[in-house]
Amino acid sequence: MSVRAIDSLINSHFLDKNQEGTTSYLFKDLKYRRKIDDVDQLLNQLNENGVGACVISIMEEKYASWVSQAHNRYPRKILPAMIVDPRRNLKEIQKVVHYHETYGVRCLRIPPFRYMLPPTDRIYWPFYVKACELNIAVSMNAGMPGPRNPGWVQNPIYYDEVAFHFPELRLIMSHCGQPWTEEAISTLLHWDNIFMSCCAVAPKYWPEQFIHFINTRGKEKMMFGTEYPTITWERARTELNSLNLRENVQSLFFNENAKRAYNWDADVN
Ligand SMILES: [Zn+2]
Repeated sequence: MSVRAIDSLINSHFLDKNQEGTTSYLFKDLKYRRKIDDVDQLLNQLNENGVGACVISIMEEKYASWVSQAHNRYPRKILPAMIVDPRRNLKEIQKVVHYHETYGVRCLRIPPFRYMLPPTDRIYWPFYVKACELNIAVSMNAGMPGPRNPGWVQNPIYYDEVAFHFPELRLIMSHCGQPWTEEAISTLLHWDNIFMSCCAVAPKYWPEQFIHFINTRGKEKMMFGTEYPTITWERARTELNSLNLRENVQSLFFNENAKRAYNWDADVN
């Protein structure tokens, strides 16, 4: 694999000793992931797998300063994102502004399964507006969640209406959208401002039409990702190698699309 990559989503859980969570029934090897303490150690590990830059989601407040320091040191290699709880309303909006200004956060991570409300619900609206105002991306899960919560709220079709109301928003679906692959593809085709972070589902389980979409009409929409520690970089790259993505889509898929979606001048070398 020669094309260097941006990992479009990593969770700050790699900073934690205990990486077992609500998805360990799906990913039996999660408990063996090593803790990564140091930003150079992280970049080395990425580098060994041909990954030159990454988006890191701050999953807990205690990791905000680590991610922000890493970003300050390597602004073109590490881009901070943050998990958002829309149920906290105005308090959470204020936190978003604070994290954006203080920690350099450039993406809001919102997993609808946690709140059991679909992306069209009014609870999310202020966050779409704020992301447009700050000119930062919103990344939201699409597809059956790993954790055992009801999945219907993550049907990709809901993002169709969000994109209609917010054409200025850079909206990133994550987690591949299964089992609603057709809905994901249609929604991605319908709007210029929606992307897919192809993370958290091992490439060997991607449906045929999903891979075909990466290679053809979706070539400017689909982005490499792992949601490490969920999927390891070794596994993602190995399995992607055997998919034999077309030559002309590789730099789009592995880094160019992410640069556009996150509006980020990343350095993948
Ligand atoms: Zn996930």
